[in-house]
Amino acid sequence: MPRKIAKKAQKAKGKKAPGAKRPKTIKVRILKSVHDDLEGYLIERISKPGQRHSLSSTLLPELLYSVSPATKGLAYNAGYTLGMKLSMRHNMAKSITPLINALENAGFSRILYHPHKRDLIIEATHEDCDSNAKKNLHAFEAGLIAGYLTESTGKSVSVAERQCTHNRRSFCQFVIEYSPQLASMEPFEGVREMVGALEEEIRKGEMKSRASDEYQLLQMLPLSRGELGSEISKLLYAVGGMLVEDGIALDERGAKSMRELLGLKKIELTRKKGAIQTVRLDYKIVNSMKGYADITSALVVGMLHSTYKRMPERSSRLNSDGSYTMELRIA
Ligand SMILES: [Zn+2]
Ligand SMILES: [Zn+2]
Repeated sequence: MPRKIAKKAQKAKGKKAPGAKRPKTIKVRILKSVHDDLEGYLIERISKPGQRHSLSSTLLPELLYSVSPATKGLAYNAGYTLGMKLSMRHNMAKSITPLINALENAGFSRILYHPHKRDLIIEATHEDCDSNAKKNLHAFEAGLIAGYLTESTGKSVSVAERQCTHNRRSFCQFVIEYSPQLASMEPFEGVREMVGALEEEIRKGEMKSRASDEYQLLQMLPLSRGELGSEISKLLYAVGGMLVEDGIALDERGAKSMRELLGLKKIELTRKKGAIQTVRLDYKIVNSMKGYADITSALVVGMLHSTYKRMPERSSRLNSDGSYTMELRIA
């Protein structure tokens, strides 16, 4: 076919000429530069008024952080560092607005800030985040508030969450703690509790949360790094098995819950004679990272293994739009 006609034919189909691969590379490059300073990018995003109606849930990191005093300390410290960076990015912000925006991006609403009361700082409602975990789950946010206030006031502040929507209260209350240790730290209650709270939410069928994708990722990042990341993967693999033992199936309904819980774009099941053959996990561009994909997919791997008593094969690919796809295949 002569070149001119070929071009016309392409145009008619609404496609670009075969050589025009440019948009692909450009998108991937943008993604890479975002991921090079991912944290900076995410912090900037969460300091701005949020995009509501994201389907990401913050429940999974909250529950993971609650399994032991060590993980709770990790949550507090990670939130604290984030709070300091958030304040520094806004020139040692004298304004509380970037912090309030960040809390809104975490899914909190009706935030009341009481700067003049001696120890009470913030009360906020976390409407879509009210699992029956029977403990206070917002250690990450307590740290976030403490880090922000420490950096912006120049006075060392620690903050504890004294009541929580996950603990049968209608709002969460964050107060200044004068003892520098995490005095209000609850005793170790373990993984079973975490699984129980997760199951209850999955059975309700609504894992929705108003948290932004960026906030959820910032909250998950400390869990997915280095050695801790592989420990968390093992933990989530075990949790997946427990969910199946307790009657949570990885069917279409279960897959929808997992999508919301893990902050994915899509989960697709392929079946053969009723049995699942492949599970495809499509990540959002913002969380298309290996560390994140490793820990979140471990939960689904645990469910598959417990259901079929076989280990699925994992394969992954980077799509042309920069998003990540992981496929789990039962051989
Ligand atoms: Zn919550
Ligand atoms: Zn709370």
